[in-house]
Amino acid sequence: MRAPLLSVIVEMPGMHADGARPLAIAIHGGAGVIDRTQMAPEREASYLAGLSAALDAGYSILERGGSSLDAVADAVRLLEDDPQFNAGRGAVLTHDGEAELDASIMDGAGPRAGAVAGIRHVKNPIGLARLIMDKSPHVMLIGQGAEKFAREQGLEFVPNTYFRTPYREEELQRAIHRERHSDKGAPAPGTITGTVGAVALDRAGNLAAATSTGGMTNKRYGRVGDSPIIGAGTYANNESCAVSATGSGEFFIRSVVAYDIHALVQYKQLSVQDAAKEVVQVKLKRAGGDGGIIAIDRAGDIVLEFNCEGMFRGARDSRGRRDVAIY
Ligand code: ASP
Repeated sequence: MRAPLLSVIVEMPGMHADGARPLAIAIHGGAGVIDRTQMAPEREASYLAGLSAALDAGYSILERGGSSLDAVADAVRLLEDDPQFNAGRGAVLTHDGEAELDASIMDGAGPRAGAVAGIRHVKNPIGLARLIMDKSPHVMLIGQGAEKFAREQGLEFVPNTYFRTPYREEELQRAIHRERHSDKGAPAPGTITGTVGAVALDRAGNLAAATSTGGMTNKRYGRVGDSPIIGAGTYANNESCAVSATGSGEFFIRSVVAYDIHALVQYKQLSVQDAAKEVVQVKLKRAGGDGGIIAIDRAGDIVLEFNCEGMFRGARDSRGRRDVAIY
């Protein structure tokens, strides 16, 4: 006779009443000055459709038992392909009129990370960040070297013009005009919005985060923002939370935003909501940084926090939540 099976139910944070583990995903498409009065209804609907497509694609991976890493990578890839957002096709342009792309991804198990900066011809920078994490001994590769590695890995290449859209060309001209006519003679920062990112929690309890961007309109000299900097624009750790940021990158780097939120959760046992509030609404604001973050903790609690007018964002979880919003 077989011995009776001893069933041990291990309580997991956020576990559902039927014992199922929570699933959650959140995405963003950038934060900043998003003027509601200037936004045509069709444009608003189109942004919300783009966000919904990425959100649902990521969530369906989680629902099928896929990993949070696959979910964030796929959601970000779709947002890179969507020309409305500042990542991949439709990225903002440098002073010289080119797209220069940055991205990073982090696996909360390990943790492990991959990042890429200043690339010009890889169609999906997030795919390259993932390969750097999975197939190289490094965390971050830049420029030509990164593209050489991408070629060896067989990634899809495109001419730089693929990324350029008429909207971004006009935006660059406006930024150059503002810079020439600014009384201080200092470079005007240009519009910052449209960076994309995703965070997710999968059935195995693994957290992941990914961020991708063209950076800042009218940038020069190989400027790199927070998005590909692990700890600033992206961070994930299974012991605390996953975070993806968007906003004025220099401030996010100086404030080490994503890692700071993780540290408050892990070492001070703050809830991810309180940690995000402290960093985004108090510390970052005091320093003069505009923007926001999306985060998910081990229990599947989602936080969408920003200190500016709006953040393109979406959230979906196994408790039935599903929303996309801008303001
Ligand atoms: N954080 C990005 C950067 O500074 C820009 C953005 O989020 O819109 O490169």
